Amino acid sequence: VVVGAGFGGIAAVRALRRAPVEVILVDRQNYHLFSPLLYQVAAALLDPSAIAQPVRALLRRIRNARMWMAEVTHVDLERKVLSTRQGEIEYDYLLLAAGSVTNYFGNQSAAELALPLKGLPDALAVRNRILTNFEQARWTDDTVERRRLLTVAIVGGGPTGVEFAGSLSELVRNVLRKDFPGMDLGEVRVLLLEAGDSLLTAFAPRLRRAAEGALRRKGVEIRYRALVQQVAPESLELASGERMAVGAVVWTAGVRAPQLGAGLGLPVDRAGAVQVEPTLQLPGHPEVFVVGDMAALEQDGRRLPMLAPVAQQEARRAARNIVALEGGRPPQPFRYFDKGIMAAIGRNSGLAQVGPFGLSGFIGWAGWLFVHLLLIVSLRNRLFVFLGWTWDYLFLDRPVRLILRASQKARPEKFHHDGGDVEH
Ligand SMILES: Cc1cc2nc3c(=O)[nH]c(=O)nc-3n(C[C@H](O)[C@H](O)[C@H](O)COP(=O)(O)OP(=O)(O)OC[C@H]3O[C@@H](n4cnc5c(N)ncnc54)[C@H](O)[C@@H]3O)c2cc1C
Repeated sequence: VVVGAGFGGIAAVRALRRAPVEVILVDRQNYHLFSPLLYQVAAALLDPSAIAQPVRALLRRIRNARMWMAEVTHVDLERKVLSTRQGEIEYDYLLLAAGSVTNYFGNQSAAELALPLKGLPDALAVRNRILTNFEQARWTDDTVERRRLLTVAIVGGGPTGVEFAGSLSELVRNVLRKDFPGMDLGEVRVLLLEAGDSLLTAFAPRLRRAAEGALRRKGVEIRYRALVQQVAPESLELASGERMAVGAVVWTAGVRAPQLGAGLGLPVDRAGAVQVEPTLQLPGHPEVFVVGDMAALEQDGRRLPMLAPVAQQEARRAARNIVALEGGRPPQPFRYFDKGIMAAIGRNSGLAQVGPFGLSGFIGWAGWLFVHLLLIVSLRNRLFVFLGWTWDYLFLDRPVRLILRASQKARPEKFHHDGGDVEH
């Protein structure tokens, strides 16, 4: 049984396609999400269906795998049984790849009022809030209130915060400016609040400076040592005591492993990820493998980062280890092959770092576009993403800027979970 149809889960199922095993893939959603482009849904650049793929479609040609949609609530390691609201699922081998949840670092007000950017419902909520605020701002003659509505605070200067800030600023400057003739751009603020004193700490200092320059040119206000202490419905307060009136707080400050891992009752790290053996097995339970964001593993003295390629490579190793165990052979340790990291900061500006080499500016951006197009799982989605990008680039236009809310009545009771990948 594979839990999670994200980067790890799908890679594992694919790696097991010719193995003499039967695979059950369990996910609480019926789609696989390409999270690296999630911020582009929030910034009204891409349609949700361009970055999500139905899991059943991905499994169509994989004869030994079936999908069961359910939220796994508990793992009984002794009985080898998973609990879900729909019923129990027994396993011989278990591969846990349930990803991560938004980390509010214990800030209760942020958990309640900030908008996370983790799942598709979150991205749509951010898009709705920002577009609604712009509409609302049209109705008010009160300058202070209008400025509040037009202020977006993005919390966390990691890749998601930086990429979203760049793309949001372009939405405002290139697209909404035309939608709202007469709008004073000086009243719009995109704030990027970083608790530390640097953005994108995984990148080399030269690339970080390039990112900062690109964001500032796009009109993003970057604030360092800006630790958010309290989020209120219409404002936020920093640890320094400074208060800011805001129309939306988008929380991109980090992720941590889900409760499912901690619930196993085995040692977890600071981010709540389960400590695994080098073979990705759970200590004392050789039939259970944990991969991706849920797994804590060190390589050369450093914890492997929570990244899609780590999840995919771990999943392939775990799948091969399951086949080895079935064949009576010993499982092999995992070794991560780092192909580099990238980030895009809007039009014509991106970063790429491969070992000691770094690229920024237009070349970094072109490289980012190319690599991300290749990584998208289906041809259809690749085409739709390419079309969305080209349209935006050529016409400075984002046709998916719809304010779209699902009716509350549409929620099926049994499959309902907390609306995204959020855990408070
Ligand atoms: C906004 C954003 C941008 C990112 N950008 C990048 C990037 O550019 N490059 C990069 O390398 N990484 C990026 N990441 C990180 C990357 O998405 C993760 O490291 C990767 O998805 C981890 O893979 P995974 O298989 O562990 O989990 P996921 O891909 O998150 O998959 C987990 C799956 O498990 C399912 N699930 C969770 N709990 C349960 C449950 N209890 N029962 C059933 N199903 C469950 C979920 O629905 C989901 O489908 C980004 C993450 C985010 C949030």
